Amino acid sequence: MAPSTDAPTVKPGRSRGCHSRSSMNLSSRELERYGRQIGPGVLSEAAQLRLKESTALVTRVGGMGGPAALMLTMSGIGRLIVAHGGELISPDLNRQVLGTEEDLGRPRIEGFARRLRAANRFVEIEAIDHEPDDAEAAALARRCNVLLSCPPGFEERMRLNRAAVEAGIPLVDAAQWGMTGTLIAVRPGETACLACIYPETPPFEESFPVIGAISSAIGSLAALEAIKIISLTGQPLWGKMLIFDGYGGAVNTIELSRRKSCPVCGDGRRAEP
Ligand SMILES: [Zn+2]
Repeated sequence: MAPSTDAPTVKPGRSRGCHSRSSMNLSSRELERYGRQIGPGVLSEAAQLRLKESTALVTRVGGMGGPAALMLTMSGIGRLIVAHGGELISPDLNRQVLGTEEDLGRPRIEGFARRLRAANRFVEIEAIDHEPDDAEAAALARRCNVLLSCPPGFEERMRLNRAAVEAGIPLVDAAQWGMTGTLIAVRPGETACLACIYPETPPFEESFPVIGAISSAIGSLAALEAIKIISLTGQPLWGKMLIFDGYGGAVNTIELSRRKSCPVCGDGRRAEP
């Protein structure tokens, strides 16, 4: 299927919710790389080009964010910004797929970014060695087409939710506990945001049980949602929560409702300074 020359074969197109970074085309080498995913029922060439034109932020890049970042990189997103602070420790290696034994004791993001760059030469990887604060998250959101929130705690998840809503950028929120994972896709102003679902920030334990197979499953599904959203492919989980019960082997999807009084996306936001 791959063409024999590097001549551009697909013209760039603008799409709702996508910021075209420049006038781009897919080269023959890119079409060769992505040949197995360009086809009926997966991605069109135009969808692949929309991926290339897009920027996503993944924070953090651990058990869920690592597989999400890897799948976005391998899928051919144009630019991926990854954020994660701290040094890699032994307990991370039951689930953090971008980490290796050699990287133990070193800043996580260095090895993670190296692994991502090694996975796909066609993707620009931008690494941030800490978790963004409110102002940085807001600034990053304005540069992105989609945010993937994969931290373990609600405080960071809520920060990404606020940044996405303020910027009007879609948010994919991935979460896990034990052998259960959840996933939602937020279209700001139209579907329930994270603060609609959790009016009060639930208590959070820094260390909770989790197994890598669940983290990777949810992280990969988060990448799939982001790919669908920015490439305008399929039906994203707008206004829904996917719940994956790994213990019982069940997947359920529930409908979510916006709260008019939501302090982030509803009438309540006017009370915010
Ligand atoms: Zn809301």
